[in-house]
Amino acid sequence: MRTRDQIFDQNYIDGVFVPVTGEEVVDIVDPATEGAVGQARLANRDDARRAVDAAMRAQPAFGHTSVAERVAILERLQAAMLSQAEAILEATVTEYGGPIARAQWVANYAGQCFGDAARALSSYAFERRVGGSIVVMEPVGVSALFAPWNSTAGTMASKLASAIAAGCATVIKPSELSPWQAHVVARAIHDAGLPPGVVNIVTGRGVDVGAEIGTHPGVAKLSFTGSTPTGKLIARGAVDTMKRVSLALTGKSASLLLDDADLAAAIPLAVGAAFMNSGQACVAGTRLLVPRERMADAVERIRAAVAALRVGDPRDPATTIGPMVNHAQFERVQYFIRRGLEQGATLVAGGEGRPDGLDRGWFVRPTVFADVRNDMDIARDEIFGPVLSVLPVDSEVEAIAVANDSPYGLQAYVFSADADRARRVAARLQAGTVLINRVAPDLLAPFGGVKQSGVGREFGVAGMEAFLEAKTITTA
Ligand code: NAD
Repeated sequence: MRTRDQIFDQNYIDGVFVPVTGEEVVDIVDPATEGAVGQARLANRDDARRAVDAAMRAQPAFGHTSVAERVAILERLQAAMLSQAEAILEATVTEYGGPIARAQWVANYAGQCFGDAARALSSYAFERRVGGSIVVMEPVGVSALFAPWNSTAGTMASKLASAIAAGCATVIKPSELSPWQAHVVARAIHDAGLPPGVVNIVTGRGVDVGAEIGTHPGVAKLSFTGSTPTGKLIARGAVDTMKRVSLALTGKSASLLLDDADLAAAIPLAVGAAFMNSGQACVAGTRLLVPRERMADAVERIRAAVAALRVGDPRDPATTIGPMVNHAQFERVQYFIRRGLEQGATLVAGGEGRPDGLDRGWFVRPTVFADVRNDMDIARDEIFGPVLSVLPVDSEVEAIAVANDSPYGLQAYVFSADADRARRVAARLQAGTVLINRVAPDLLAPFGGVKQSGVGREFGVAGMEAFLEAKTITTA
C-alpha cells in the first residue's frame, strides 16, 4: 500500500519530538510517479542550535558511560531499527525510488550495523601501555553526522553506531531530500530509549542547518557523507575551531577486467557494479576497463546484461533500475548522455530520453558507451545515474594507469582468474577499497576514499576510532 499525505514537521531534540520552527515547507515527491506523497517542514538555524545545545548537555555523562552500557544501547538500537525495517523500506522506496531489493538491503544494514559496532566495542582496548605511558582512547566529543539522500537510513545508522560506540553525543543532519526516511529512523532511535540529548535529528538544508552545525564551536567532530564540493565546504568550515573531520565523498570507480578474466562471470558482476542503486551509488563501478583484444566479446556480453535489466516501478521485486531521485538528477543524466555523444563515444545501449512505456517518473535508460577515452566528461565526472563508460586498454600497466587517472579513489573492482595477479594489481590501485571478483562490500572492514573521494574510514573498529582521540598519561 502506498502511504499518502505524510506530514513531517518535527525535530528530534533532547529525547523528544518537538515542532520544527523553520518556515520552509517542501513537497515530498515520489520520483516514480512525480506525485506528491506528503510534505515536510525544514528545520532552520535555531533548530540546529537547539540540537547542538542538547548534545552538549548530554556529552559529559555519555562520554563516561561504561562499555557495557554502550553495548546495551547499541543492542537496543539494533532491535529497534530492525523492528522498523518495513517502515524504512517504505520510506526509501517512496522517497527516492530505491529499487525494493536494494532498499531491503539498506533497511537490514541500518539495524545490523549497530550489532557490528557492539562487537567492535566489546573487544576494543581503550587503555594501552605505550613506552612508559598509559594511552587512553577517549570520545572526541559532540559529533555532527551528515547524510546524503541516496542511502539515508544506512548512513545515519552506520555513523551513529560508530559514534555511540565511542561515547559521543550526536546531531544528525539528514538530506533535505530525505525527511521521511529521517523521521522513520528517528522513531526507531526514540524507541530504543537512549539518554536525552545523545541523539538529536534536524532535517534541513545544508546552506543553513548544515552550515550552522558544521561551524558550531560546541561540535568537536564532523562525519560527512556527500559530494566532494560540499565536503570541501565542510572541511573549510571546520578549520576555525579545528574540528576533527571524516569525509566520505564522490566516486568514479574503475572496474578492471584483466585479460584472463572469465567474461561470463565477470561481465554481469561489472554491470551490476555500474548500475547498483540505479547508478545512484558512490561506489558504482562506472568505468569498465577492457583489454582491447577482448572488447568485441565484452561489449556483446554487456549489451546482453543491460538488456536483462528491468527499469520501472521500484516496488516490483523484479525491478533493477528505479527512477532518478528528482527532475534535477534526471536532467543531469541526460546532460552527460549528450556529452558522451558530443565527445565521440559510441552508444552501445540506452541513450537520451525515457525508457519505452515509462512516460511518468524520473526514469532514464540504462546507458553504455564504448570507445570512451579517459579524458571525456563521462569518464571523469560522477554522473550518479545508470551510465557505464567502457574504455579499451592495451595492457595491465595501462589499465592501472587509467584507473588511477582520476581525481577520485573510492573503490575499484578487479576481475581475473588469477587471485595473486589480482592482488598485485590491487596493490597498485589508488582506491580505499578493492573488490576482487565480487561486488559486495565487507561491512566490517574499513571503508573510505583516497584522493578527493574523502578523508578517514568508516565501519567496524576503524569507524569507531574516527570518534576517539588518544590521551597520553605519563607518570613520574
Ligand atoms: P550533497 O553533498 O549535496 O549533500 C550531502 C549532505 O550535505 C546533505 O545532508 C546536504 O544537505 C548537506 N549539505 C549541503 N551543503 C552543506 C553545507 N554547506 N554545510 C553542511 N552540510 C551541507 O550530496 P548528495 O547529493 O546528498 O549525495 C550524493 C553525493 O554523495 C554523491 O556525490 C555521492 O557519491 C556521495 N556519496 C558518497 C558516499 C561515500 O561513502 N563516499 C556515500 C553516499 C553518497
